[in-house]
Amino acid sequence: MSSEIDAIRQAVLDGVRGEDLAALPVPEAARGALVRASEQEMFDGLPSEEKDPRKSVHVEEFPIPELAPDEALVAVMASSINFNTVWTSIFEPLPTFAFLKRLGRESVWGARHDQPFHVMGSDAAGVILRTGSAIRMWRPGDEVTIHCNYVDDQDPSAHDDSMLASNQRIWGFESNYGGLAELTVVKANQLMPKPRQLTWEEAAVNALTNSTSYRMIVSPNGAQMTQDQVVLIWGASGGIGAYACQYVLNGGGIPVGVVSNPQRAAVLREMGVEHVIDRKAEGYRFWGDDGRQDQAEWRRFGKKIRELVGRDPDIVFEHPGRQTMGASVFVCKRGGMVITCAATSGYTIEYDNRYLWMNLKTIKGSHFANYREAYAANQLVAEGRIQPTLSKTFTLDETGEAAYEVHHNRHEGKLGVLCLAPEPGLGVSDPQRREELLPKITLFRRHQD
Ligand code: NAP
Repeated sequence: MSSEIDAIRQAVLDGVRGEDLAALPVPEAARGALVRASEQEMFDGLPSEEKDPRKSVHVEEFPIPELAPDEALVAVMASSINFNTVWTSIFEPLPTFAFLKRLGRESVWGARHDQPFHVMGSDAAGVILRTGSAIRMWRPGDEVTIHCNYVDDQDPSAHDDSMLASNQRIWGFESNYGGLAELTVVKANQLMPKPRQLTWEEAAVNALTNSTSYRMIVSPNGAQMTQDQVVLIWGASGGIGAYACQYVLNGGGIPVGVVSNPQRAAVLREMGVEHVIDRKAEGYRFWGDDGRQDQAEWRRFGKKIRELVGRDPDIVFEHPGRQTMGASVFVCKRGGMVITCAATSGYTIEYDNRYLWMNLKTIKGSHFANYREAYAANQLVAEGRIQPTLSKTFTLDETGEAAYEVHHNRHEGKLGVLCLAPEPGLGVSDPQRREELLPKITLFRRHQD
């Protein structure tokens, strides 16, 4: 760590005033977790599970770019691993340098992103160090979390639902200078207030997955769940699934959570999810050895859901993709909705269309969240009505290891990464509220022990 970065870190830990933070020199370089363009072919020909983030992710210095007028420079206290960190680090489905090149062609400011390195990370909690000349609502010293919807608001298409903007990107995945670093560069319209009862690492894990699940379950842009609806949630203790469960419970719905081991089922039960299916214990095999889907297995799965809740799911929260989509479309209620934001197990999907059209079902695509949705989701965390799902914390140097765990489905909830925070447990500014919420805040960590 350079002496300038150390001074910034110490100032944040000492709680110095914003104007004093703003007076500290900004270093020319900072350390970050990055992949190198020169290595983007290193895994060519290997099966996905053998592509190892521990080999491709390097934690090293990168030059800090000049700040655009609508940007803030943030001292990152903590960040998190998302599945897009895995995608970047294994160069799938394509190396992210293609995204940086495209951004680089757009404008002078965009050109800063087209580098032979890609600093990853689409989540962060930290403190603003500098603001560009056009920023009105934020100041140095503000404690923030950062959402990853990266939109150029000069484009007219960004002014209804910004997720529909033709230039919409995910920060730290389709842009450079992401959150897994000591310093990050973000647009002002990515900033949100840090929840005061949370530590840096607890505050850092929410924005990407929490906002995604908010849009999918709550928002009119998603399924807009109503009271008493049954929602089938795949990967219910995972990054997006564990927030989806909380939204269904908060909104008076009935979650049916699918997981793959008894420990995960136990976390969900403590959260209040009454109906849990252990897919491994049940031994579902939706795809046969002949490479075709087995409709008898879809039926067995649907029967299990009916046994548990007495009816078919109104909404299916879908993201595993190829392995599960056929079953998801089949079990969804007549007139119901399968809402999907991913295809982790394969994006070429097969389902039996007769079950879709004859039963008037809808498949709806969803992607991250606009600023309003992300802000609302962050506000619910700040009010203690949605809890972080942090299960384990790594150091910045261990980013490759943490991404490896997510790649191999060995983690629960979310994994945090300490960037400038020297240890876990720091950053709480409302200890009384924290005390009231503590068992809920630490749910996922308690089940790790
Ligand atoms: P995660 O933390 O790895 O959780 C995924 C969960 O899916 C796992 O906990 C696992 O649960 C389950 N799963 C894995 N393989 C499965 C299979 N073959 N069949 C059924 N379930 C399976 O990841 P995440 O953060 O929740 O993200 C999930 C996906 O959504 C990723 O592809 C990610 O890139 C994507 N995503 C998209 C957006 C967007 O805005 N479009 C936002 C966030 C995430 P069990 O093994 O316990 O069943």
